Amino acid sequence: MIPPQFDYHAPGSLEEALALLGELDDAKVMSGGQSLLPMLKLRLATPANIVDIGRIPGLDSITESGGSLRIGALVTETALEENATVAERYPILLDTAKVIADPLVRNRATICGNVAHGDPANDHPATMLALRAQMVATGPKGERTIGVDDFFHGLFMTSLDPGEILTEIRIPAPGERSGGAYLKLERKVGDYAVAGVAVQLELDKNGKVTRAGIGLTNLGFAPIRASAAEKALTGATLLEQRGFKGAIARVRGIFSGGLDADEVIAAAAQAAADATDPVADRRGSVEYKRNMARVLTARAIRQALSRAGG
Ligand SMILES: Cc1cc2nc3c(=O)[nH]c(=O)nc-3n(C[C@H](O)[C@H](O)[C@H](O)COP(=O)(O)OP(=O)(O)OC[C@H]3O[C@@H](n4cnc5c(N)ncnc54)[C@H](O)[C@@H]3O)c2cc1C
Repeated sequence: MIPPQFDYHAPGSLEEALALLGELDDAKVMSGGQSLLPMLKLRLATPANIVDIGRIPGLDSITESGGSLRIGALVTETALEENATVAERYPILLDTAKVIADPLVRNRATICGNVAHGDPANDHPATMLALRAQMVATGPKGERTIGVDDFFHGLFMTSLDPGEILTEIRIPAPGERSGGAYLKLERKVGDYAVAGVAVQLELDKNGKVTRAGIGLTNLGFAPIRASAAEKALTGATLLEQRGFKGAIARVRGIFSGGLDADEVIAAAAQAAADATDPVADRRGSVEYKRNMARVLTARAIRQALSRAGG
């Protein structure tokens, strides 16, 4: 299929790109083009102008500084997969990148484009919710930072203004005892998710969850934060303590009517499923998708725990 006609602009700097977005009518930013070009071909988008930011130098770095991992606008899925810091300290990002499309798409598709697209079927938004990421938008008035909870507004809708470029994603550096995982059920390798679940946990030294982040993919009209599931996990001791301390904790749990770790995980997984609002389609019925959300949440929590404790 051939896209509709548009004027193509390839600015050489961020300033030039912002100026073009300010002066052109009906312009769209393009990064890797892996979502925008299919949208053009399907006539789901028909912008008069495309501002291709893909050649702007200096936007493709991944750095860890100031307590955050900073992912520049032009960092591709492949670059993320090949980054040693990401592999070592942010395995949930690696889980996510690896299950997106195929290597050809991942060579061009950017993380910022994936998030800026605002598609609830895309995989990174759920992971960014779990990680409590910050979005850095640069526009004519300079830079502003948007918390991920204020970023997604609905189907293909984000809080980016038309003249703004998502120039960086900042992810808080993980605490000493933290771990995350992203699990995706897909019909075949490279497909969009039937359901996807991102979980990031932070534990104290006794194995108690001090912070939980859970995001859901393709289970509603926007990426979903499973707040009730996060609440169900926070404060619970999920990693078994060994020896005398562990025995005392278990006895205390029995007498206080407290839930054991398996029950807490089951309750959180059910709460995540209850937060979904899926639609029936070729990928499955509403009931099937809800149940998959429950199953994947429980699995992702266990994997996050094992990474946090390991
Ligand atoms: C065959 C195929 C399979 C796919 N499978 C998956 C999958 O399994 N999971 C998944 O998550 N995605 C999948 N995708 C979608 C695609 O990989 C992502 O949406 C992609 O990461 C988008 O990034 P991009 O750089 O290509 O963005 P583009 O296509 O260039 O842009 C996408 C949208 O975001 C806007 N945009 C892009 N960058 C910025 C920016 N820096 N600032 C402001 N706005 C911006 C554009 O204006 C456009 O509206 C698939 C795509 C294809 C072609």
